[in-house]
Amino acid sequence: MNDICNNSKNGRPSYGILSCPNCGERLTPADLEVFAKCPFCDWSFQRDACLEDFVISPIVNRWMARVHSQFPRD
Ligand SMILES: [Zn+2]
Repeated sequence: MNDICNNSKNGRPSYGILSCPNCGERLTPADLEVFAKCPFCDWSFQRDACLEDFVISPIVNRWMARVHSQFPRD
């Protein structure tokens, strides 16, 4: 079963890096952004909410950082 949501201890994907369940290679969101496939072994990831979260996590993190710099807490 391809369950990347259980990749880390707290039940959330470890954002920024993901191990391919088939070959164990480390993948980044950019690797899965277009084809949702492992570039090393061609494993097809299931496009579910967890994968979407993983793929967009760098964008979300950047966006969050920008919001915090524009609206700093006083
Ligand atoms: Zn792989």
